[in-house]
Amino acid sequence: VFKVYCEGLFDGNMKLGTIFVHRNMTKEYEVDRIKSEFVSTVSHELRTPLASILGFTELMLTRDLKADRQKKYLSTIHNEAGRLTSLINEFLDIQRMESGKQAYEKAQIAMLPIIRKVIELQKVQSERHELTLEFLGGHDLVVGDAGKLEQALTNLIGNAIKYSPDGGEVKIIVFEKNSMLNIEIQDEGLGIPPEAMDKVFEKFYRVDNSDRRSIGGTGLGLAIVKEIIHVHDGEIEVRSKYGEGSTFTITLPVSSFD
Ligand code: ADP
Repeated sequence: VFKVYCEGLFDGNMKLGTIFVHRNMTKEYEVDRIKSEFVSTVSHELRTPLASILGFTELMLTRDLKADRQKKYLSTIHNEAGRLTSLINEFLDIQRMESGKQAYEKAQIAMLPIIRKVIELQKVQSERHELTLEFLGGHDLVVGDAGKLEQALTNLIGNAIKYSPDGGEVKIIVFEKNSMLNIEIQDEGLGIPPEAMDKVFEKFYRVDNSDRRSIGGTGLGLAIVKEIIHVHDGEIEVRSKYGEGSTFTITLPVSSFD
């Protein structure tokens, strides 16, 4: 509420009236909420690997350790530093994408070699999972940014592995239908509870159930995937049975020129 006064013409200030300003604050509160959530998630997620790095370096500096123990600690430090790097990259990625500052390349690319590359890289990280690729036919050419599409696939296949803690098969099924390239990533993991299905693509959203509380993450992976797929005029969908597994499907327009 603003009170309006008129100065100069009258002796002293004369009150002319009152203006009531109605503004919908809901959106601003929401932005503030998301911002503070961002800060607390970022700090929390950065703190865990940093604590581990500090702890192990301190041990190495203050104790006389045998060579094999030193190597073990160094390897933990190395892994945690790697985790920090990918966390920071994710934070920067989503921020760049959302502010429209992300530049995307536009080239004709064959998706199958990219899918094969991602599978090979993920296989190195997970011996307990069987990763299989089935190509059911059609064209695999799309127009877009190979690096970004590779990042989207890495996030999806990485999640399929991460949320299947008991191992199991991760099937990647690829086919063209109605000029759209379909890439399905099926897992036999924890699945997604029904109430979380429409939230998993939201920034920072993480399912907070006891079956996955110890699995690390930022809640940014799927938001990044969605952004990348939408920029490529594609769609992403998820089907899941809680406790049995999930299937994420990407569809991308097939490039019409060879
Ligand atoms: P993060 O893995 O960092 O938590 P994501 O944005 O990649 O973030 O995923 C959001 C949430 O969706 C995760 O917290 C997880 O609970 C759920 N989720 C994603 N992929 C899967 C999957 N393949 N199986 C089960 N749950 C999944």
